[in-house]
Amino acid sequence: MRIAGWAAALATTVGAPLYCQTAAATNQEFPPFQVMANVYYIGTAQLASYLITGDQGSILINPDFESSVPFLQASVSKLGFRFSDIKIVLLSHAHDDHAGGTALIKKLTGARLMVMDGDVAEIEGGGAGDFQYHSHWPPAKVDRTLHDGDEVALGSTRLIAHKTPGHTPGCTTWTTEVRQDGKRYQVVIVGSPNVNPGYRLRGNKQYAGIVADFERTFRVLHSLPCDIFLGAHGAYFDLPAKYQRWKAGDKLAFVDPEGYKLYVNDREKAFREELRRQ
Ligand SMILES: [Zn+2]
Repeated sequence: MRIAGWAAALATTVGAPLYCQTAAATNQEFPPFQVMANVYYIGTAQLASYLITGDQGSILINPDFESSVPFLQASVSKLGFRFSDIKIVLLSHAHDDHAGGTALIKKLTGARLMVMDGDVAEIEGGGAGDFQYHSHWPPAKVDRTLHDGDEVALGSTRLIAHKTPGHTPGCTTWTTEVRQDGKRYQVVIVGSPNVNPGYRLRGNKQYAGIVADFERTFRVLHSLPCDIFLGAHGAYFDLPAKYQRWKAGDKLAFVDPEGYKLYVNDREKAFREELRRQ
């Protein structure tokens, strides 16, 4: 009954999928493309990965599963960039579908890995110590531990790490500013605001602060100025539909401040309903 109630509640909300899936289902191909300026989409159909290019090399956000890495390499070269120019690797959060390929990408590129405090132990343990899951992936050494508000800079490229915990203790929402045709756009890459199936919000001995962390995340997400709405999964921001508009010539297809607000409100509502239900 509890599960059925939860599923029914989910069926009425937007923004699925709400949990991380297996590699085979999520490695489905997707064309790489320039979202805007130096921000490129290089992920699979479901696992969103980004290449942020610059004069001193590139930053990659989300290595995805280890089995996704050849696809990411192909995406980068289709866009005309070199995989070996990746100097920094960042994550949305320490789950296998975003972080499983981290060690392999470090090995292939020699890039520095920067991870939010709260997720460092899981990344260095290859998933060990996760409060919910028992998945394992190749451990990767973290070269720099990030804290809320830290800047990651590479040449003229600047990204800000916002700690948006709850989904994982070090879940990170990335922001940057881009310019196109003389206008500035605030880019937000949401880390995940989702209460996954089975997450215990009340009396969670493995993650005692989970409710306060989700509360904090929604405060942060509401406070961020957003023009270009992106996230760790394409489904957060309606990737397929926006990509079709982009392909048809709408270079502002990913500018969606209203969609961002609706998404954050919807996810907060889902969190509050789940909290009440438990
Ligand atoms: Zn996740």
